[in-house]
Amino acid sequence: MEKYVYSFNGEKTEGNASLMNLLGGKGANLAEMARLGIPVPPGFTITTECCNAFLQSGGSYPKGYEDQLEEALSRLEANMELAFGDPENPLLVSCRSGGRQSMPGMMETVLNVGLTSETIPGLIKKTGNPRFVYDSYRRLIMMYADVVMEKAEGIEAVNGNGIRNQLEKILAAFKETRNLQNDADLTEDDLKTLCGLFTERVATVLGEEFPDSPVAQLEGAIGAVFKSWNGKRARSYRRIEQIPDKWGTGVTVQAMVFGNMGNTSATGVAFTRNPATGENTFFGEWLANAQGEDVVAGLRTPAPINDATKRETNKGVKSLEATMPSAYQELESIRTTLERHYREMLDIEFTIENERLYMLQCRVGKRTGTASLVMAMEMLEEGLIDEITAIKRVKPHQLNELLHPIVDPDEESRAQCLTEGLPAGPGGAFGHLAFTSDDAVKLAKTHPNVILVREETNPEDIEGMRAASGILTARGGMTSHAALVARGWGKCCIVGAGDIAIHPSMKKMQIGDKTFNQGDILTLNGTRGRVYEGKLKMVDATEDSRFQSFMKMADAYRTMGVRANADTREDALVAKNYGAEGIGLFRTEHMFYSAGADDRLFILRKIILSDTEGERKAAVRELEPFVKEEIKETLKAMDGMPVTIRALDPPLHEFVPHSRAKQVELAEALGVDLNEIKRRCETLQESNPMMGHRGVRLGISFPDLTEMQVKAVFEATAELAKNGHHPQPEIMIPVTCDVEELVFVRKIVNRVCEEVARQYGLAAIVHKFGTMIEIPRSALRAHQMAELSEFFSFGTNDLTQLTYGFSRDDAGEFLPTYLEKKILSADPFQTLDPLGVGELIKIAVERGRETRPDLKIGICGEHGGDPASVRFCFKAGLDYVSCSPYRIPIARLAAAHAAIEASETKK
Ligand code: PEP
Ligand code: MG
Repeated sequence: MEKYVYSFNGEKTEGNASLMNLLGGKGANLAEMARLGIPVPPGFTITTECCNAFLQSGGSYPKGYEDQLEEALSRLEANMELAFGDPENPLLVSCRSGGRQSMPGMMETVLNVGLTSETIPGLIKKTGNPRFVYDSYRRLIMMYADVVMEKAEGIEAVNGNGIRNQLEKILAAFKETRNLQNDADLTEDDLKTLCGLFTERVATVLGEEFPDSPVAQLEGAIGAVFKSWNGKRARSYRRIEQIPDKWGTGVTVQAMVFGNMGNTSATGVAFTRNPATGENTFFGEWLANAQGEDVVAGLRTPAPINDATKRETNKGVKSLEATMPSAYQELESIRTTLERHYREMLDIEFTIENERLYMLQCRVGKRTGTASLVMAMEMLEEGLIDEITAIKRVKPHQLNELLHPIVDPDEESRAQCLTEGLPAGPGGAFGHLAFTSDDAVKLAKTHPNVILVREETNPEDIEGMRAASGILTARGGMTSHAALVARGWGKCCIVGAGDIAIHPSMKKMQIGDKTFNQGDILTLNGTRGRVYEGKLKMVDATEDSRFQSFMKMADAYRTMGVRANADTREDALVAKNYGAEGIGLFRTEHMFYSAGADDRLFILRKIILSDTEGERKAAVRELEPFVKEEIKETLKAMDGMPVTIRALDPPLHEFVPHSRAKQVELAEALGVDLNEIKRRCETLQESNPMMGHRGVRLGISFPDLTEMQVKAVFEATAELAKNGHHPQPEIMIPVTCDVEELVFVRKIVNRVCEEVARQYGLAAIVHKFGTMIEIPRSALRAHQMAELSEFFSFGTNDLTQLTYGFSRDDAGEFLPTYLEKKILSADPFQTLDPLGVGELIKIAVERGRETRPDLKIGICGEHGGDPASVRFCFKAGLDYVSCSPYRIPIARLAAAHAAIEASETKK
């Protein structure tokens, strides 16, 4: 017969922490604590399998359950020397939920089960404390009516005015008429009256009497906790956290201990170390004369458990340490026992009944990124954990917090979110609003913090984007221009916040019924994609001193390389500082966007808009020194490391001037009239630019453009080499679909290489030649592409776009709906799609290496900095990932995790 009920009671305990899946976190850890001799009120846990059977059958229990429940209850009664429903010596129990993974506040709990008209007098006699008994009873009625009679029955509250809300209002009104401030001021008679009012309201609203039978209460509570697995909150939490529906919850039924028996009783929650900073100090909150829900519900403000963790705002209140020193000492020693046993930071719940301490829960505590890192390193130093455990304790994405200033989580939790968009650039920022790039630049001269708000950004906004602390756009996806640029700079950015209506000419915008003008202040949380009104506090997340040693330790386990996508000397230096082992993508076009790039951009525009070959060739020659200088600076900054320089990629119309002033200037320089310039700009417009005249196609249409870029690379390399440097350029051709394109370009590369070598008196110029794989056809033709390529780099932004047929610029319009309706489980532009895009990658790796076994393979799409995608790349056998500088530590850690995981599965 299957076992559905597991008792816990000191040494006679049946389960333990390893039965997490079957008993849920709460049940398994209570059993573990009971085994450790920690004071835990005895009880039993009903398994998650029983929950699944109950839910699948539409509400009937599996065979054998009823008998096991009865037996466990008798055991509990014997244990406590009390009897459930007994008028003289009544046993009361709590029924709590507990899934495999903690889902805080998402499922239900019912306390004080077993109080009825018969047991109330008995309990009063026993405790001599009628106030406490009626306080417990009014809590039971409220919780039971809400959880069991309303929610579990699927009764929808009208206008959110559910039974709990109605009873709360009765309580509030009652206190007001009596002029009372706190629940603690209610007398025995008050509470008795309230219980009467409560039961009456329950019967009228829900059409059923509150049950006066202990057995009915227990049955109702257990069933309701099971049903709460499928409650609205729990379901949405599971979707967000990707917890499978089939796990189910356990129910723990436990003898009640009372924190509300008077001033020598209390309840509290604590963390064995500080969950925000990671500091090794016992950190928690408590409330005298209260039950657990009071702390969680935030009805009363709890006090710190000890004096060491008091803050300016609560230094006047009395700590548990000062109020009940011996209970506190015991709690402190349980903290040590638990940490030594679990080798983890734990989140614990306790109750003190008449100065006797009981533990009600322990589980691995949630923590910030900073805290994760600090705790991992300290526990390693303390000898609690080994290196691999320490590395695994920090989730790669948590490092985000250490690399950018972030919005203070405390303030954020209290603030009202104005609107949301896609979390495109990390960290937090606040600032004065500007609606054009020029205004952002101007405003930034007098105000250090500016938020640039645009419909979408294009290369002309670059100055404003540089000047701003944060960027907010109404349109665009995760790989839109604004997102790419912001992430590259490590700048806070939210894109595609569709609720915003912007009126740049009027220097204002609207979000719902609120209007914001230039100069008004907003705060952005770029990590979560949330926008807030006014200024929220930022937390300085400068590098923890342990950060470097943690990363060094992780690197020792990592086998895959990590490079950066960087386009300037400055970015290259940032990347190197974060541990980049080379540059995997130098986007040549970005040198025309940067601050002070007006001269270059002007020449490039001349090239693009020139009508005759002569005009164009002259402009190309004019541009070469600029390109050479930029490349040289970056090669120098990364001396001795590979730098992948990509030939010009984007569609030409991205560079043409949109403003009249710029068009006039260009017309004058080219000696043609303005209308002619306008006409030429218009001819460059394409209806599908992402699939148009871009990438290698430009280099084939205008071979002199290819030649100029290649010459710039080789001259820069030759000059550096002659000066004792060790440049390692890799020339990369984008948007290729056929080997003949490579044949064409490579001829130019080889010829120019020889010419430059001769010119500088060198025997050869060491370099590599390779291609991006970003069109499905080139992945499929990889064996041929590898004949001419010494390396491949997967451009997964375009590869995703072209595999799905989703425009990377416009997918923001419908992807949220796809995610909401579960048509896709993740945004494929953020997390590499392992099934389609991934399949193409695997094919290309295999076919490419068949032709050229030492083919070097990397990825330089945005996925190179996404932990799940990094893991995929490791498994696919890539040599390196390349990502924006600020994501390098994340990629390094993700690659270390992947290598550790692989070696663990081998064992
Ligand atoms: C890509 O397509 O993945 C890539 C890196 O190139 P870009 O984003 O510049 O098109
Ligand atoms: Mg691309």
